[in-house]
Amino acid sequence: MASIGIIGSGISGMAAAIELAASGHQVRIFEKNSGFGGRGRSMKAEGYSFDMGPSWYWMPDVFEQFFNKHGRSTSDYFTLDRLDPSYRIFFKDGLIDAPAEMKEIEAVFEEKEAGSAAFLRKFLKEAQYKYEVGMSDFVTKPSLSLLEFMDLRILSSLFRLEMLKSIESVIHQGIKNEQLRSWLSFPVLFLGAKPSDTPALYSLMNYADMELGTWYPKGGMTRLFEAFYKLALEKGVKFSFEDAVESIGISGKKFTHLVSASGTHKFDFLISSADYHHTDTVLLPVEARQYSDAYWESRKMAPGSLIFYLGVRRKLPGLLHHNLFFDADFQEHAADIYDLHRWPEDPLFYVCMSSATDDSVAPAGHENLFILMPIAAGLKEDEALKNQYLDLIIGRMETRLGYSFREDIDYCRSFCTEDFISEYHSFKGNAYGLANTLDQTAILKPRVRHKKISNLFFAGQLSHPGPGLPPSMISGQITARLIQKETSKSSK
Ligand SMILES: Cc1cc2nc3c(=O)[nH]c(=O)nc-3n(C[C@H](O)[C@H](O)[C@H](O)COP(=O)(O)OP(=O)(O)OC[C@H]3O[C@@H](n4cnc5c(N)ncnc54)[C@H](O)[C@@H]3O)c2cc1C
Repeated sequence: MASIGIIGSGISGMAAAIELAASGHQVRIFEKNSGFGGRGRSMKAEGYSFDMGPSWYWMPDVFEQFFNKHGRSTSDYFTLDRLDPSYRIFFKDGLIDAPAEMKEIEAVFEEKEAGSAAFLRKFLKEAQYKYEVGMSDFVTKPSLSLLEFMDLRILSSLFRLEMLKSIESVIHQGIKNEQLRSWLSFPVLFLGAKPSDTPALYSLMNYADMELGTWYPKGGMTRLFEAFYKLALEKGVKFSFEDAVESIGISGKKFTHLVSASGTHKFDFLISSADYHHTDTVLLPVEARQYSDAYWESRKMAPGSLIFYLGVRRKLPGLLHHNLFFDADFQEHAADIYDLHRWPEDPLFYVCMSSATDDSVAPAGHENLFILMPIAAGLKEDEALKNQYLDLIIGRMETRLGYSFREDIDYCRSFCTEDFISEYHSFKGNAYGLANTLDQTAILKPRVRHKKISNLFFAGQLSHPGPGLPPSMISGQITARLIQKETSKSSK
């Protein structure tokens, strides 16, 4: 049995902890904040509940398999409902409600563009193949060496996975209607790069969206994190909250101890699931750093976010649980984020109103709004600017909804770059880690195992396979497996 320290209680850290504790190891998680969940924390204010980060529950199979592996089901911890419609997209000239049923999705496609349903069927069939191969063979590899992919099945698959084509080129070849193009392009925005820079492999996200569906754990996304926390406790994991790790001690080629707010702690292995850049440049001694400043500066970051949590003392008809405001020019906003790195003039934004389907998250007759506007990572913020954007966003919502509600806002909190840095030690205030571009995929991501220090590992959204709840959870599992291999070698 080994002792294992883990930095961070986000989904990647808790997934790694559960795997390792379940195989008999002593695991302790150090978390700087007062509760679990990392970017998936929740908060309560003035009778409203808000999920502070993730709001889309996609790929339910991935979470279910995780809990099944540990003798549980997600239904032991929460009730999961499929949303129908999955979401509403507002355009300048109309809207689309994304139905849960494939037949109904196809009907919307045909209505907007004759012949497009046939393209969609073929596109999703290929996307299903990519999802199945991608999620079983590709993302689960530790990605420490190209040799891992020298397996005929994966090699031949890689060609079919279309790594070298962009998803935009595939969508644009098959679809002319601008609204349908936006609908099909939206899921890859989760991956943090423009569709023109995202490999066609990631149409697997369209399969996740349209075939596997959008789900909601009653009570909020916080139920998912609570489930991880409870399962971790059941397996014997110890948590130290408000116990920020300040430095990592190395002797020769070995990790020896960490120093946290509560003192010095020795472990056989360490996993850092805190933002990789923070561990590499702040926690590790200079001689153990793996990546230079130039390396970090040259990384393409996924967007940051300007977020508003609003309480509204009235109902807001016309909004669903998930709402995408694509009533502005997508290319212009994308260029502001990825090419020009400046505040957008006319942004797209997303509104989650979980009170539309869940009475428990707002007082009766009220709504809880989570509004997210993607921005370039690292932008300087100021209060006046944030207020201007809030004004612009509310104005656009009022125009699309056809009524005013700004006078009914009775709670407002913003969360932006500086908050991501102070709350999570986020590099450049990023919300979603590194962009999933071809040159930042698999072995080209920051390594999950330290190059020289044999008992030091990493997990989380800045490492392989990348951002999003399912990938971050999988990164924790990958790292746990590497440690299990080490411990089984030494016990032989
Ligand atoms: C606004 C937003 C919306 C999102 N929406 C979705 C969505 O709808 N669906 C989806 O699947 N994904 C979504 N994501 C992405 C998803 O939330 C993340 O990819 C995932 O939660 C990352 O988990 P993690 O474990 O890698 O990191 P984190 O959750 O950031 O966990 C790292 C933890 O390390 C702690 N830490 C840092 N430094 C130290 C230190 N020195 N000592 C101790 N602890 C430390 C931090 O406090 C944090 O708790 C969203 C993310 C954001 C920010």
